[in-house]
Amino acid sequence: MINTPKRIIIFVIAGLLAGGALYTLAGILVAKYRWEINIFLYGSREAKKQEFTYHTRIPRHKKLEPSSPARPNVILVSLDTLRAQSMGCYGCANRTTPFIDQLAEEGALFEHMCSSSTSTPPSHMSMMTGLYKGVHGVGSKEVLDMGIRTLPEMMSEAGYATGAITENGFLVRQMGFGRGFDDYYEIKDVLLFDKLLVAGGFARDVFERGKTWIQEKGEHKFFLFLHTYEVHDPYFPPPPYDTMFLSNPDAYRKFLKKFRKQLGRVNTHVYPPEFIRAQYEGEIRYVDELIKDFIAFIRLQGLEGKTLVVITSDHGEELFERDGIVGHGNHTYDTESHIPFIIWMPGKIPAGVRVRNQVSNVDILPTVAEFLHLEVKGSIQGMSLLPLLRTPDHPDQRHVFCEAVKQTCLRSLAYKFIDSDELYLYGGTPGETVNQADTHRELCNDAVDRLNAFRAECQSLKAEKGLLKPGETVDLDEKDIRKLKALGYVE
Ligand SMILES: [Zn+2]
Repeated sequence: MINTPKRIIIFVIAGLLAGGALYTLAGILVAKYRWEINIFLYGSREAKKQEFTYHTRIPRHKKLEPSSPARPNVILVSLDTLRAQSMGCYGCANRTTPFIDQLAEEGALFEHMCSSSTSTPPSHMSMMTGLYKGVHGVGSKEVLDMGIRTLPEMMSEAGYATGAITENGFLVRQMGFGRGFDDYYEIKDVLLFDKLLVAGGFARDVFERGKTWIQEKGEHKFFLFLHTYEVHDPYFPPPPYDTMFLSNPDAYRKFLKKFRKQLGRVNTHVYPPEFIRAQYEGEIRYVDELIKDFIAFIRLQGLEGKTLVVITSDHGEELFERDGIVGHGNHTYDTESHIPFIIWMPGKIPAGVRVRNQVSNVDILPTVAEFLHLEVKGSIQGMSLLPLLRTPDHPDQRHVFCEAVKQTCLRSLAYKFIDSDELYLYGGTPGETVNQADTHRELCNDAVDRLNAFRAECQSLKAEKGLLKPGETVDLDEKDIRKLKALGYVE
């Protein structure tokens, strides 16, 4: 006979073992099947997508116009956290972007685009307004002032059907990202258990939703903004992309298993740099495949030659280049601030052009506006890049700026100066490895003056727009916070 205390102990141990087994099983299932496990728990795939996709339709009384080569459709694709140097067309040795490389050859590629910020909301807001954060004021929670006009608002006023498919997190509609959009989809995260967060990156759903939206627009001309966190940490590429860039997958088998179980969470103490880089690049290769499929759809719909496709990102990613750091947001080094910018529209954008000039993502709005002959009202800080397509090697003295949490920098083709007194000269010395501030004091002093002038310009633009007041903040809902947690922003 087993006495009662022993029985309790046996029950407790058995319970713990059963609980542990269930927890492990759930982890494996979620890691392997992501959506499917949630569908099993919550219902059909379509219902699931409906439940976690927030759709805002803003009724607008506007006359939609048919698309034409003169006023083409525009698709702006933002692949969050995609750094230029990890793409084939920007010199990456691995075949991470075979399809985007091909698009770049059929269109134009800008070799040196610097993001205005290395954080998601301010950088995207620069894309949408042509202004630096010093003017638009959107950091992580601030609401864009109604006095600032956005790209989707311009498109909407010009008779375009406007739609956004985002993965939310930071691109919160109420912060101003929804302004001008007829439809604003926010694909939010799915929470299974507190510890088993199915996180960041639903690129397939973003592109599929985008296709459906385009089909709904019929013959009307449209502006579509697509945003995905697929490339963002946690890096969680599906097979075969998870092993594609590992030189010896067998040697990493145990890490792969653990990584899948932890849903692609980066832990620099556990996983070797080569492994983490391979997962990041695997995500890029996966997205490249989705873009290939999406462009095939565009062609099938007869929209090639009638649609300007813009591929860019909001910032890059540190991947062990500096002090073992993985991530973005704090610094302005090229790893974090050098972003891709590729435009494609056969027949209208000259094929195979590579522009060497220094440009910024504040230039996106004026470029699209000029391409569509839309008037930019009010002062902005960006400039149209279309003239550079005609003279891609135009001598360039331009300085652009990037603001991060810990630094602000000024960048030109010749050098970068960071306000933490760092100077990097390009050409000659490799990349950003040797701080030459001490030996080039005059250049640093000049750069400090330029940074001060930039800050003064921001202040005077704010004054001109009547914005010299602290920005309001927006309260994030529970699902927004979960998404931010999944992306590693909130503890
Ligand atoms: Zn981002």
